[in-house]
Amino acid sequence: MDFSDDEDIVAMRGQIRRFVEREVPPELAAQWDREDHIPRDWLQRVAGLGVCGLTVPEEYGGLGMSVMGVLATIMELGRGGIMLASLYIQNACYGGINISEFGSEAQKRDLLPRLCNGELMFAYGLSEPDVGADLASVKTKAERRGDQIVINGTKRWCTGAAVADYIYMLVRTGDPDARYQNLSFLLVPPDSKGVTLEETETLGLRGLPTNDVILEDVELPLACVVGGEDRWNRGWQMLAGPSLEVEKLVSSSLGLVTAQSAVKEAWEYSQQRKQFGKPICAQQSIRHVLAEAQTKLQACRLMLINAAQLVEAGQPSAVDTSMAKLFVSDTAREIVLSCQEVLGAYGYAQGFAMERYVRDVLVMPIWGGSSAIQKNNISNLMRLPKA
Ligand SMILES: Cc1cc2nc3c(=O)[nH]c(=O)nc-3n(C[C@H](O)[C@H](O)[C@H](O)COP(=O)(O)OP(=O)(O)OC[C@H]3O[C@@H](n4cnc5c(N)ncnc54)[C@H](O)[C@@H]3O)c2cc1C
Repeated sequence: MDFSDDEDIVAMRGQIRRFVEREVPPELAAQWDREDHIPRDWLQRVAGLGVCGLTVPEEYGGLGMSVMGVLATIMELGRGGIMLASLYIQNACYGGINISEFGSEAQKRDLLPRLCNGELMFAYGLSEPDVGADLASVKTKAERRGDQIVINGTKRWCTGAAVADYIYMLVRTGDPDARYQNLSFLLVPPDSKGVTLEETETLGLRGLPTNDVILEDVELPLACVVGGEDRWNRGWQMLAGPSLEVEKLVSSSLGLVTAQSAVKEAWEYSQQRKQFGKPICAQQSIRHVLAEAQTKLQACRLMLINAAQLVEAGQPSAVDTSMAKLFVSDTAREIVLSCQEVLGAYGYAQGFAMERYVRDVLVMPIWGGSSAIQKNNISNLMRLPKA
């Protein structure tokens, strides 16, 4: 069972795989990680594979939304390290999915063709210094003054903000006590007057900067409101809508591909490394670790495919996407940590890809809705009584 039997997707996977094998040798992924920088022109090269249009309707230059196509792309690009896949997600998912679903006609005509050809990159501006899981308590404030919007506040953990063209930003647009009713999304160019960017060093997910975005009396035209005036104060519905289901699968696929890479590395290493006169893969303890890792990997794959099929078919999927996000993130972490042990000291040494997989996988249960939040979702959606 794979992400799709669709001939186009199978052919596309092969094309991306060959591209990654040819263009992204392990040393290059290591360099992006070491320098904490992936050059932006890689997005154009990825767009050259035709995959940026997989989230965009045909009338705007895309290929039509294909959840399976997007996940297959992430899984293939991620084979070279998840930076390239992350770059793709900033374009096709944060940009393509949200603008296709919520943009005004003018925003769609302007942005979607440019997203499809890899010209634009988006960043996601949800979190704030005091706002993590509880997104309904967003404080960054946007006020309408005539035909202008004035924004004040701070966004945190904004991946790629410093190199993005737009931050897709959740802001408070009315009385904070109303929580869910007074939120809106804006498109904020990070080079706008009044925006200051600061960088936070992170353990993993290196390649794109992680930024604080400080907004002081930033003035933008009314046209920056995602979806135009009709969607003013409708940010919560946009956040909790169908794009959230895809978002959970997108971050799960990054966890899955990281675990898959770790298993591949440990599997190969165990056959090369000899101790006590034979390869360590002949030791039962190593064989069992690797057999368990392969089994868990397969379980992750099936959870993700099942949830993706429901989303693709437009069926109710909130429980299944939360289960996939929870299971894949936590299990991917278990898999990678067990594979690290197979490499012994070399799993702890810089310069081996394994230590990067460890650093990258640790964020999976934290971001994009933590594992605890997914457990809350599942028990609430399955109507487990609270009293
Ligand atoms: C490398 C990295 C990149 C990121 N990129 C982005 C980005 O591009 N854009 C963006 O907007 N954000 C981004 N984030 C932020 C990320 O999505 C948040 O970390 C996440 O939403 C959790 O928020 P928090 O870390 O503030 O944790 P908190 O919400 O403060 O939670 C802390 C702990 O309490 C638990 N907890 C909180 N509330 C509950 C509850 N109701 N029930 C049970 N347990 C609970 C959590 O599970 C967690 O264990 C990024 C984070 C990292 C580390």
